[in-house]
Amino acid sequence: MTVRTRFAPSPTGYLHVGSIRTALFAWLLARQKEGQFILRIEDTDKSREVQGSIEHIITCLNALQLDYDEGPDKAGPYGPYRQSERLNIYRDWALSLIKSGRAYADPLSPELLAKYHDQAAKKHQPFLYRNHRPDHPPDWVYAQLPLRFKSVPKDYAWHDIIMGDLAAKADAIDDFVLIKSDGYPTYNFAHIVDDYEMQISHVIRGQEFIASIPNYLNLYEALKIEHPAFATPPPVLGPSGNKKLSKRDGAEDILDYLREGFLPDALINFMASLGWNDGTTKEIFSREELIKTFSLDRVGKSGARFDEKRLLWMNGAHIRQLPIAELELRAKKFWPPEATKFDADYQRRVLGLIQERLKYLAELPSLTRYFFVDLPIDPDLINNNAKLSALSHETLKNLLEQAYEQFDLSDFTVSDLSLKLNALLELTNQSPAVLFSLIRVATTQAVASPQLADSLELLGKERVLRRINQQIESL
Ligand code: GLU
Repeated sequence: MTVRTRFAPSPTGYLHVGSIRTALFAWLLARQKEGQFILRIEDTDKSREVQGSIEHIITCLNALQLDYDEGPDKAGPYGPYRQSERLNIYRDWALSLIKSGRAYADPLSPELLAKYHDQAAKKHQPFLYRNHRPDHPPDWVYAQLPLRFKSVPKDYAWHDIIMGDLAAKADAIDDFVLIKSDGYPTYNFAHIVDDYEMQISHVIRGQEFIASIPNYLNLYEALKIEHPAFATPPPVLGPSGNKKLSKRDGAEDILDYLREGFLPDALINFMASLGWNDGTTKEIFSREELIKTFSLDRVGKSGARFDEKRLLWMNGAHIRQLPIAELELRAKKFWPPEATKFDADYQRRVLGLIQERLKYLAELPSLTRYFFVDLPIDPDLINNNAKLSALSHETLKNLLEQAYEQFDLSDFTVSDLSLKLNALLELTNQSPAVLFSLIRVATTQAVASPQLADSLELLGKERVLRRINQQIESL
């Protein structure tokens, strides 16, 4: 059997992390099994459509390199891949259901509907359409009356690759709309027709559809078609882990992460880990490793926490694994403006030094500006440092003067600078936490920097001595 999976978003706004994670699982499975991944746009609810969403969806998939084999802009044997362009197909299937007695035109007026709802509520019973089927339904005129499925309620048990064996009682099943009065099909109808017509083997989708599966199973039977395999990943939860992820939790538009210089492979790695692991403690996976090891069987049932700190850590880990030439390429548009005055070789050396601590590329200016420009003295760097602020200005000055003398004697190779730094520790009888912090503050105006000797070497003698002098004068 060829594995064919699909991502079937509705163009109703920006893509949520949860949806992209679902798309990723479908993509991984298709790539692993050398099958096909299909993008289908479910645009049958015109009232909820948001302009630009389709472009956004396609941009996101492209940016994350989740390539699809068939889609709205990629012709395939089962197109078109936008539901709004498939209305004739749904109409034909609907007519076959009318013919087999399994669908009826629904003449129920809103007033009558409200009355039936009231009656059911008074009796503390759930309202069910199937209790109010018209005795003599009118002929169905397309795009005038809704067409409703005539269910045959029964108990169902089915298997979900992730959620396991599930079951529901017959009373969960009701008549539902297949085609609305505007002529567009409902999701409930259209996806079943399309998954079948497009020969989808695995339907991977969010939790919100699980409750409807008994209805779908009833419809599959009425249509006399087999259903695909179902797989329902767990929800993506907010950072606190007890409610569904919302925009306020930092689950921004995935494109924002890319704009800030998160790597597509790190984002993929992170999203795959929302619910999945390979059974070991391994956390960092390349795209190829994910394709090789991913399996729906190892997706957990319980909610996966979206932890932005973990994403940062993972992105840092992916950045560290990049060959320097590749990092250079990606860093291009993130340099602070002052960096353009320096040549590529110098920029590469700066990158080489900060690659260890870089978490995302938009951090580049704040982590590297002092390599390109003398920053103004920031007194808070000393004031906010408990150890340094405990010393008098005289002592600080004196320490800096000794540092100046030692560096003045240095040839500014890393090995010699290391020797001088050690000599200074002995001369001054200070701890590295005091002495090295002070030298770091003076020469970088930053709280943290790469290895001190490495930074000093790259800055060079002239700048180091000048900056130490400026710091002395400020005290
Ligand atoms: N169009 C549905 C949605 O965006 C897709 C559900 C599915 O994957 O079948 O929620």
